[in-house]
Amino acid sequence: MLLFHTVASLQSYLFEQKKLGKTIGFAPTMGALHQGHVSLITAAKKQNSIAVCSIFVNPTQFNDPKDLEKYPRTLVSDTLILEQAQCDVLFAPPVAEVYPPNLEVSNKFDFGALTQVMEGEFRPGHFDGMAQVVKRLLDIVQPHRLYMGQKDFQQFSIVQTMLILMKSEIELVVCPILREEDGLAMSSRNVRLTSENRANAPLIYKTLQKLGRTIKKQPLENAVSIAIAALKKIPNFRFEYLQIVHGETLQPVTDFNTSDYVVVCVAIWAGDVRLIDNEILKK
Ligand code: AMP
Repeated sequence: MLLFHTVASLQSYLFEQKKLGKTIGFAPTMGALHQGHVSLITAAKKQNSIAVCSIFVNPTQFNDPKDLEKYPRTLVSDTLILEQAQCDVLFAPPVAEVYPPNLEVSNKFDFGALTQVMEGEFRPGHFDGMAQVVKRLLDIVQPHRLYMGQKDFQQFSIVQTMLILMKSEIELVVCPILREEDGLAMSSRNVRLTSENRANAPLIYKTLQKLGRTIKKQPLENAVSIAIAALKKIPNFRFEYLQIVHGETLQPVTDFNTSDYVVVCVAIWAGDVRLIDNEILKK
């Protein structure tokens, strides 16, 4: 695997490869890699000549400075994981490479109602920072395909919209959520869970699965109330939101039966670790 820290060195390599007709699949990450990230690299490898992974903990998408500070940074073990996944290129830039002082500030996109719900409501400014870094990384890497996880449902929906607004030809490939054996969605943040909170964390996905069953038999509000009550009962967890939304507009769904694409999204604090998960209930 080739490792690049600067934009210039990465681009000179990738542009040579493109001249040779090679295609590029790109998976942006913030590191502390797990098998969920590996699944993106594996998909990128399968569909392109070259798989590029970036590791960059983007300061502009953290609305909470403590969260940024506590975010795990494990470049040495990440490099081994990527080698094993047969990733071709790792781009691990310092902040000054991604945001040099002379960089023109990218146009802010108008995502309309997409950014006003769920993560947008609870993490003000998060999606502006996320869109800014994804746009910048796409400008740098200029891939053919972009690989993102369903785990961050709202994130990939916003990136899809951004690609449309940019009139970009980059194809967004969304990969399924990888879970631990007990159902907990894999996340870089899971390593920070206390053993007690880790033991209770699978209740999040269990609740979503149960909701998927009850929503077919009961009015939507009942099914949601039961799920929220179950989440609120988890010791030492602090419920943030659970919303049933349309998978494209991300706006609330009020009737399960008449909607064609239904997703449940959840955010909850396990001690001081914020966890998110989602499940497509109907598509
Ligand atoms: P992150 O490093 O958390 O910013 O995530 C980088 C990419 O990996 C994003 O596109 C995520 O949606 C994706 N990802 C994170 N967790 C998982 C998972 N459990 N399964 C699949 N993809 C994931």
